[in-house]
Amino acid sequence: MGKKREQPDKHFSPKPAISGRKGLLFILSAPSGTGKSTLCRLILSRFSDLCYSVSFTTRQPRDGEIEGKDYYFIAREKFEEMISKGEWAEWAKVHGNYYGTSAKLLRRELEAGNDVLLDIDVNGARQIRKHFDESVPVFLMPPSADELRKRLEKRSSDPPEVIEKRLKAAEEEMACRDEYPHIIVNDDLEKAADKLAALIKNYRASKKSS
Ligand code: 5GP
Repeated sequence: MGKKREQPDKHFSPKPAISGRKGLLFILSAPSGTGKSTLCRLILSRFSDLCYSVSFTTRQPRDGEIEGKDYYFIAREKFEEMISKGEWAEWAKVHGNYYGTSAKLLRRELEAGNDVLLDIDVNGARQIRKHFDESVPVFLMPPSADELRKRLEKRSSDPPEVIEKRLKAAEEEMACRDEYPHIIVNDDLEKAADKLAALIKNYRASKKSS
């Protein structure tokens, strides 16, 4: 398996104390190389009132990543302490690094009535769905396995064996796509953004009328 995903352990608080929520949670999951980050940026530029949930991670920042914008980069000890205190709305371990969504930050946005966009993996999406009725999970697919391979080869200077691992991990993630009520194929970024934008508008409209 390329990306080793571990299920949250026994310390995970099964019911984060989040109440009085009003906003919608749009969850976007996708294999690496599908264009998820670019799509998120495009969607956020179209909806000025949509909040992006900045995740916490224990991995090292990559070139160009900004603290508080791309991620909050924290120490492993701090992350584990927050697990034991039940301070994550969801968390997962990917490739030896922790990733999580702060229950406190999420609660703050939802209680303010803000809709939130989350970019999280399939494990995290499962946890959020379990605890938040108002979540809208969306899976972003590459147009084909060949295209995904091309994109990974183009964007990365990784050796072929690392690319193979990523492709294997992508296959495993794509096997979970049926858990998602909405699937968008990213064969054209603008079209994929149009589809996601339409979905967001529909959910917002149906929420207002309910
Ligand atoms: P990367 O290290 O490439 O930024 O992200 C690796 C994976 O972690 C991606 O699949 C991404 O969606 C996922 N991820 C990022 N933030 C979170 C988070 O807060 N929770 C979970 N469960 N996954 C996350």
